[in-house]
Amino acid sequence: MFSRFLERFGRSFSFRLNLWYAAFFMVSATALFLLAYFVLASLLKQKEKEVVLAKVEEYRAWYEGGGLYALRYKFMNAPSNDKNAFFVRVSGLANDAIFINVPEEWKGFDLRQLEALARPESRHWLALPDRDERREWMLAWVRLSDGRLLEVGKTRDQPRELLAPFRVVFGAVMLGVVGLGFAGGAWLTHRALHPVRQLTQTVQSIIDTGQLNSRVPVRPANDELQDLVNLVNRMLEKNEALIKGMREALDNVAHDLRTPMTRLRGAAELALQDTHHPEACREALADSMEESERVLTMLKTLMDVSEAEAGAMRLNPESIQLKAVIQDVVDLYGIIAEEKNVALSLNAPPGLVLQADRVRLSQVLANLVDNAVKYTPEGGRVEITAGESQGRIEIRVRDNGMGIPPEDLPRIWERLYRGDKSRAQKGLGLGLCLVKAIVEAHQGMVEVDSQPGRGSEFKVTLPMVQVGSRPPAAG
Ligand code: ADP
Repeated sequence: MFSRFLERFGRSFSFRLNLWYAAFFMVSATALFLLAYFVLASLLKQKEKEVVLAKVEEYRAWYEGGGLYALRYKFMNAPSNDKNAFFVRVSGLANDAIFINVPEEWKGFDLRQLEALARPESRHWLALPDRDERREWMLAWVRLSDGRLLEVGKTRDQPRELLAPFRVVFGAVMLGVVGLGFAGGAWLTHRALHPVRQLTQTVQSIIDTGQLNSRVPVRPANDELQDLVNLVNRMLEKNEALIKGMREALDNVAHDLRTPMTRLRGAAELALQDTHHPEACREALADSMEESERVLTMLKTLMDVSEAEAGAMRLNPESIQLKAVIQDVVDLYGIIAEEKNVALSLNAPPGLVLQADRVRLSQVLANLVDNAVKYTPEGGRVEITAGESQGRIEIRVRDNGMGIPPEDLPRIWERLYRGDKSRAQKGLGLGLCLVKAIVEAHQGMVEVDSQPGRGSEFKVTLPMVQVGSRPPAAG
């Protein structure tokens, strides 16, 4: 159990982020420490060198002012504690010491080293390591005006020793920094990943309960995570609408299929009961044919839409007299319009010819006219006009019916979408989707202009000279 927790914890993104924070803190603090350490060490060294060189100058001035006697006298009677701090040696031309002061600390130093030491004129000081390597000797020299050599030396602790307390303080600070980095990192990561956890919870709850109306809580922030949350919420909304639409469509299909199927069964039953009258049987068979035709049309529309949406619609373009095709559709819907007391009119110049698939173009017109008549109340008007503009054919189907609310306008082309107010009428929400797919397959376009309560106008624009059929979709 505990090992499982550890394994999960180790895999957790926030834990890894946290480690990164702490590592980053540690590396930055170490780099800062090293920088401070080396700057401090070199400053210390520089300072000590300056002190020794200043002493050389001071003693030289004494010597040049009053000779060896003055140097010895002033040195021995100097109020400062130079005797215990500085090694001083004046040597003659044969490198023999004529004045020497060896402080306590220099007792372990082998003075013979100095004799063998080369002293280049270009440099005036050098550092010699001590035997135990914990300290070093600093030696500066100057050639006096009478050719003698004045040397001043001083021991210095290695910066390592000198800066030991600094290292201890740094160690303690570092521990604090790492602890703080880890705790701060944990808090920051926990806070930053809050929306991600909410997102996971929401998706998990949708998977567990199937409730599609769950949404990720929105924060008053404007960052990348909020963009992701907004996107996921929009996706969930879309999915919900799509699934709702599909459920409704399935209900509609079931409902619309049930009526013709019941009638079909009724007609068949009647024919079976009345076998003595061939006339009645014939009539029942004709009814059955009609009903099954209706069912087939519905199923075919569904398949057409699928085919068109997959981009696999095949066209058989031919030269078409536009007015004749529209007239056929007007004739077809004339009776329904008359029954509903809707005036249906056509205004198209004769002789307009275009290249298109006759059956598909009729489907487009039939769907638009069907909608116009369907969504226009009694006493209304439906006008169809056709013409040519800039080398393209324009067909308009205008009605003064119920119109479409602006918020529905972008969605009416979606598969299975039905406007709320249209539900009183029969329909599958497939008509306009098919219209759009067929028109686009002809390299044309379809637009709508509508105002609720005042009516709608659908405009189809098609190229006059057509176009081959679309290649079937791959696969
Ligand atoms: P339906 O089977 O519902 O008619 P369509 O795809 O043909 O499906 O149309 C989609 C929706 O567009 C309709 O449900 C309706 O709300 C709206 N619509 C289409 N044509 C018209 C029109 N002429 N007047 C008002 N609304 C229309």
